[in-house]
Amino acid sequence: MAGFETQMTEQVRTRIAPSPTGAPHVGTAYMALFNLAFARRHQGKMVLRIEDTDRARSTPGSEQAILDALSWLGIEWDEGPDCGGDYGPYRQSERLELHQAEIDRLLEQGDAYRCFCSPERLDELRKEQMARKETPRYDGRCLALPPEESKQRAENGEPFVVRMKIPSEGECRFMDELRGEVVIDWSQVDHQVIRKSDGYPTYHLANVVDDHHMRISHVIRGEEWINSVPKHLLLYKLLGWNPPAFAHLPLLRNPDKSKLSKRRNPTGIFYYRDAGFLPEAMINYLGMMGYTLPDQREVFSLGDLSETFDLKRISLGGPVFDLDKLRWLNGRYLREKLSEEEVIDRLLTWKAGKGFLERVLPLALKRLETLSDFFPLAQFLLADKLEYAVTELTGKLDPGEAARLLKIAEWELEKTAEWNRDELSSLFQRMAQTEEMKLKELLPLFFVAITGSTVSLPLFDGMSLLGPDLSRTRIRLALEKLADTGNGLSKKGLKSIEKEYRKAYGDRID
Ligand code: GLU
Repeated sequence: MAGFETQMTEQVRTRIAPSPTGAPHVGTAYMALFNLAFARRHQGKMVLRIEDTDRARSTPGSEQAILDALSWLGIEWDEGPDCGGDYGPYRQSERLELHQAEIDRLLEQGDAYRCFCSPERLDELRKEQMARKETPRYDGRCLALPPEESKQRAENGEPFVVRMKIPSEGECRFMDELRGEVVIDWSQVDHQVIRKSDGYPTYHLANVVDDHHMRISHVIRGEEWINSVPKHLLLYKLLGWNPPAFAHLPLLRNPDKSKLSKRRNPTGIFYYRDAGFLPEAMINYLGMMGYTLPDQREVFSLGDLSETFDLKRISLGGPVFDLDKLRWLNGRYLREKLSEEEVIDRLLTWKAGKGFLERVLPLALKRLETLSDFFPLAQFLLADKLEYAVTELTGKLDPGEAARLLKIAEWELEKTAEWNRDELSSLFQRMAQTEEMKLKELLPLFFVAITGSTVSLPLFDGMSLLGPDLSRTRIRLALEKLADTGNGLSKKGLKSIEKEYRKAYGDRID
């Protein structure tokens, strides 16, 4: 397979392919930054493709949020759903005909097959394999179906998925631009489903088809996808196409080296915007993740990074995303990179401006006697972390019960696609009903968790202004506060809360 050197004659085209589910993640910004720096370094283009084939989880709100979050950071794409380009459409759900045609081609070529196995059978199979300590994998039963019968059953309306045929032995060897040669045994690779029973392609199929048709030359993405490369390479081969070059970046880590997760660090890009971080400091910090500039500079811009960017300078040892270090760097930007005038401008556009006051004042007005009453009431909207006593938080509730309710709200809030006063109000009403509590017994806990006080602006308006990322972070911080005073949820406790939660509220989505 061609490496970077041999592909330099063609135009470099990179892409980011986020799925529009949930809040935009710092990991997406990290991938976008490195894809952009690489594309710019080689006078190429970066494409933004929205991978929305998971119909149950994708939302237009989340797609817009991704565009807004990346724009806030100053990350620009050359082609995408908002600005178009020569290889559109850039939303995967608008490319279904293309995916379907390639699935049909694979079926006709005999490189893929319909599988009619029921979810119950697959479940049973998986359990048996796990009991035998084998890697769960489809056993190929439907592979033996004669093509005519398979076609007939599909025409009769029987539900089916389409799977790829995978070699039963041997190994797949490929080059990763950061890791060198990678070898994966075909026995480790499942007969991947490429078309789901709802007719939609899976990620693997759609991703390969779109990367090809969008002429992507370099796939630069997270290391969690490295084990998928054999399937992708096989698809390229079966479809008769040249594969792009692959580079799998290390995943961001928490300071304890576990995979970056919101349990330890805020992971939503908007948390950083709303908590008052500067986009250029964020970009600088993300650029330092596993990367050093040739002159070892610590403070640098996207332009500086792009000028000298070289994938070979990426180190693979799990870069740690450390909030304290980011705060320190952000402080340097405020003091060293911006003039006082500029800091004032940033404050005004962040939250101290007229637009913000116009949104807050109507909520505060009836609680004001003097102007000086305003700022204490609005303080929770401007602050990052809040100080309050645990007893204020729990109020009349038992601390264990308070922790349980906070946890449930955290999961419920994760599910809200629309973040506004009315949605939040119905969410908490539903929760009160399910918990058989009165709203006024349930809400004081959240009032303190969100506003840090027992007296403030109305809760749902306040949360709506505060935004999802900061609000969710406050709930997590309240849980941490309880844990710090010995009232945390044990592993066992958490398991049973989760079980009850699923029964009463349905599945979690995070
Ligand atoms: N949609 C995938 C994701 O959300 C894209 C992975 C890739 O870059 O291939 O991570």
